[in-house]
Amino acid sequence: MSGHDHDHHHDHDHSELSETELRVRALETVLTEKGYVDPAALDLLIETYEKKVGPRNGARVVAKAWADPAYRARLLKDATPAIGELGYAGRQGEHIVALENTPARHNMVVCTLCSCYPWPVLGLPPVWYKAAPYRSRAVADPRGVLTDFGVTLPKDTEIRVWDSTAEIRYLVLPMRPAGTEGWSEKKLAELVTRDSMIGTGLAKRPEDLA
Ligand code: FE
Repeated sequence: MSGHDHDHHHDHDHSELSETELRVRALETVLTEKGYVDPAALDLLIETYEKKVGPRNGARVVAKAWADPAYRARLLKDATPAIGELGYAGRQGEHIVALENTPARHNMVVCTLCSCYPWPVLGLPPVWYKAAPYRSRAVADPRGVLTDFGVTLPKDTEIRVWDSTAEIRYLVLPMRPAGTEGWSEKKLAELVTRDSMIGTGLAKRPEDLA
């Protein structure tokens, strides 16, 4: 590649881009020019995670776990294959652990180092998940963070914070709301919010559904 000529000009206006965006674009340009990356494939990958893979996948997993005790047991024992049963698998989700919320223990997930997140079930992480205040305060003051999110738990509920890594991603299994006996999985899934699967929220109650 040493003899390759790179004297053509890039005349896009970069002035509105952040440094990170600039770096990403520069990297994409270099990889494309060297033939490592097909820009169309890259666009498709990004669009997939922006539009197609999102928290509705996780909501289906949670709803099935609420409705089907055998599935719930499989999910809590080894989440990755249980999630794979529904067809959700792939990058950033090679090893997922499901955390069961109970009246005694509430689980909350953070990545203190960066933004590790279970893509196949939740899609791309929200901006606040990647932000320094959440990443630091989730560990130092989880109850305060929950208050900021509008969640108040009983005093004697233990809050456990789980730090994601490149190897392990977590999915919180929120508590099934009261008054949902006999509901179909499809209807149950409507109660499952993204935040309830991160642990910064609770599942909706039946009366919250418009
Ligand atoms: Fe991370």
